[in-house]
Amino acid sequence: MMRKAISLQRPLALRQFWLQSYTVLITTTGQAPLALNVRPIALLLGLTLGVGGLGLWIGVLTYRNSQLTQRTQTLTHTASQVLADLDKIGAEIEDLKSRAGLSSRGLDQDPGTDQTPLPPQGGVSRPVTPELIFALGQRKLSGLDGVISNSIKPSLDATLKSEAKRLAAFPNGQPLAGKLEVSSEFGLRPSPFETGDYEIHEGMDLAGPVGEPVLATADGMVAEASYDSGYGYHVKIKHDSSYTTLYGHLSQLSVTSGRRINRGEVVGYLGSTGRSSGPHLHYGIYRKGEAVNPRYYLHLNSSS
Ligand SMILES: [Zn+2]
Repeated sequence: MMRKAISLQRPLALRQFWLQSYTVLITTTGQAPLALNVRPIALLLGLTLGVGGLGLWIGVLTYRNSQLTQRTQTLTHTASQVLADLDKIGAEIEDLKSRAGLSSRGLDQDPGTDQTPLPPQGGVSRPVTPELIFALGQRKLSGLDGVISNSIKPSLDATLKSEAKRLAAFPNGQPLAGKLEVSSEFGLRPSPFETGDYEIHEGMDLAGPVGEPVLATADGMVAEASYDSGYGYHVKIKHDSSYTTLYGHLSQLSVTSGRRINRGEVVGYLGSTGRSSGPHLHYGIYRKGEAVNPRYYLHLNSSS
């Protein structure tokens, strides 16, 4: 059993208390007492320095904690802005989908969305951390990427392909290379055979030398490549759109009925076969079966 005791060797005088030296005896049963010389002023000084050091250390820690808090707040703010920007992009994509006629489901439910659950969370007062916001942003970004890859891009590709096909089938090419020389306009005209009668001319006559290549003005299918007394050797092309084009009075055919043809391909050669008063190409355009004026499709000035 250990017992310790501390005793003061001298009576105290209050004014001298702090400056005097005291011996403190620490006695233990059965052992020689341990004597320690102590000055209260030294104890007080040591205690003050210790407390001061502790205060300084706490101050440094508080400052560092404040810096960390500030950085966390900045990070949280930046992450929130990124999230807001992602929401704006998401809204734009939803708008694009809607305008493209695609189903407009919530991005979070869209196929391709990363369904990785967010970190577990509970309670209504959980503070928002940058990590949580970034995780949410990553999930949204993955969702947007899925929407673009799985929905918008295929739709856009299909639309562009369809549009390219439609444009290729629109008869706005030139049936003859070079500058076109119009020898007879579309519409009502006196008979070229000087009969004194008027007739409806369902096309435009383009003068040129016999043998000049005659070109398809759009992609399509050769619907007819034959001879009759009116248009002589002639070719009719049915386009994928609602148009049909006619190339008449040819001297020679170079396509057969039923084959696919592209804009600019040679369908035959200029001539004067059939009901013709001289070498020229009769070029006709029909829209849903009705003859229309080729001038508007050939980009010709009204005076030329
Ligand atoms: Zn004609």
